[in-house]
Amino acid sequence: MQVNTIPPVDLVRQYESINKEIDNTILEVVRSGHYIGGSVVQDFEKQLAQYIGTSECLTCNSGTDALYLALKALNIGFGDEVITTPFSFIATAETISLAGAKPIFADIERNTFNLDLENIEKIINPKVKAIIVVHLFGQPVNMTRLMEIANKHNLYVIEDCAQATGAKWNNKTVGSIGHIGCFSFFPTKNLGACGDGGAITTNDYAIGQTIKIIKEHGSMKRYHHDVVGINSRLDAIQAAILQVKLRYLDKWNEERREIAHYYHKLLSSIPMIQLPEEIIGGYHVWNQYTILVANGIDNNKDYNRDFLKKYLQDKGIISMVYYPIPIHLQKVYANLGYQKTSFPITEQVSYEVLSLPMFPGMLTQEQKRVANAIATSFNQ
Ligand SMILES: *Cc1c(COP(=O)(O)O)cnc(C)c1O
Repeated sequence: MQVNTIPPVDLVRQYESINKEIDNTILEVVRSGHYIGGSVVQDFEKQLAQYIGTSECLTCNSGTDALYLALKALNIGFGDEVITTPFSFIATAETISLAGAKPIFADIERNTFNLDLENIEKIINPKVKAIIVVHLFGQPVNMTRLMEIANKHNLYVIEDCAQATGAKWNNKTVGSIGHIGCFSFFPTKNLGACGDGGAITTNDYAIGQTIKIIKEHGSMKRYHHDVVGINSRLDAIQAAILQVKLRYLDKWNEERREIAHYYHKLLSSIPMIQLPEEIIGGYHVWNQYTILVANGIDNNKDYNRDFLKKYLQDKGIISMVYYPIPIHLQKVYANLGYQKTSFPITEQVSYEVLSLPMFPGMLTQEQKRVANAIATSFNQ
């Protein structure tokens, strides 16, 4: 019997649900001859600013560029330190280094995978200029507590919203609460383009203007360069595609929430695994549905995350490990002096996390297949 593979994400299924609109908008851009900048990009920036709830929105090349531009706009560089999480995609810490500053880390919370804010104050020192928090997997950070800490110590807050477009904390959309919000339109993100893209949001006009200058080769007036900048822009084709997809984002996020809810129902009585939950005050947008798989003995045999991943794969279900190696243990950061044992929760979680298939359009039948496979992985 031929059994279909259940992928971690199915972008073709998403495209097919809106293919006419996407095809038409791409053709319009191609036929217009305006491929860089112009009204399509400006209109998308206005729409995203309105959606997030900020006065300013600047698009750029990627989520990585958004983080880099945010740091540069805040004049963070050599001699400065920035606090962030060791449990994220590398770009979060990497851009701190690229800007010339030093990333310093604190441990995370096991139940949210996000920075444990109570660990932050212990490492604040006069060199620290900013905190970059990540709303990981779509789960918002407690921004009330974070802003309290940041304001007390006079620190900037950058929100890495790459996995959380549309997530909310106390009914405020993430990316509008800290000083700057950074977004990625990588295809698998909640709002994904058909290629690379990113955006920066802020309510600070001056920061917005500085970002605008830096992302356009340090110039406000063409061929007049005031500071060192880069070339970072969103293509008109991607902006057109994103305008269409933005109209569906709330519906897709609601669908992700329903899928998460159903997983919870299907999996809650299975031993050895811990299920993710939404924090009180948060609106989680489930870029990933990530469970924790305990290390243990089942039927005199080791049972663990890697066993379950392989077991699911043999049944045609592809799960993912985000992230197998915490950032403080990556080779690139060996010089920072962290060790195995520096952040016990992060390190333990990196052995236990497993992200199950999760995408708008996923069928309940498919979710049942995933749940049944997990249930039968015991006693094998
Ligand atoms: C995807 C991602 C980024 C980087 O975005 P790109 O558009 O791929 O450059 C940064 N931070 C986090 C948490 C991400 O998931």
